[in-house]
Amino acid sequence: MTRVVLASRNAHKIEEMDRILDDAGLHVEVVGIDAFDDVPEVAETEATFEGNALLKARAVCAATGAPAVSDDSGLCVDALNGMPGVLSARWSGGQGDVANLELVLAQLGDTPDDRLGAQFRCAVALVLPDGREATVHGEMRGRLVREPRGANGFGYDPIFVPDGELRTSAELSDTEKDAISHRGNALRALVPVLRDLLPE
Ligand code: IMP
Repeated sequence: MTRVVLASRNAHKIEEMDRILDDAGLHVEVVGIDAFDDVPEVAETEATFEGNALLKARAVCAATGAPAVSDDSGLCVDALNGMPGVLSARWSGGQGDVANLELVLAQLGDTPDDRLGAQFRCAVALVLPDGREATVHGEMRGRLVREPRGANGFGYDPIFVPDGELRTSAELSDTEKDAISHRGNALRALVPVLRDLLPE
């Protein structure tokens, strides 16, 4: 079975990718970078999700010699011209998830409720040892609410209500969120690419 390395140490992300590929009937073994020694940490220094995902996948492929997959994601708020975007994780200067979402809400203090549209975006990159590369994208559209709700998920989930939902994404179960999420959509878009590019 072909082995693909996901540029992550997060067991939840590794299981999620494994499940999505398996559901699509694609039999590859997904391992995290913890399965290897000496994989360097890569700073996300690019200005786009795609650029950061490629940066990490290239580094992991070079360090492991195996096909590497990496994702980068964030929240893009319409009224903030797409910010925090690639700066989502450190929007409050590294003070954590709650400070990040409080800062975004403060920045939207004067914005009318009907202009709180936003989306989560995700880019996933695949880099093969022979130098071939591919990127795919996924998004989850919705709107922000001013009162955080829910204890699941992470990051900005407590203030984000996906389209077609009344609950925030922090009030959805993992399975419900995976089915509509930006990362789930990007990983599902990766399936035909893996099918084309990976050796049998
Ligand atoms: P990363 O792609 O895992 O580095 O995520 C970057 C940042 O974007 C996270 O730290 C969160 O602030 C935000 N983010 C990405 N995906 C989600 C999500 O599904 N829910 C909430 N916040 C997210």
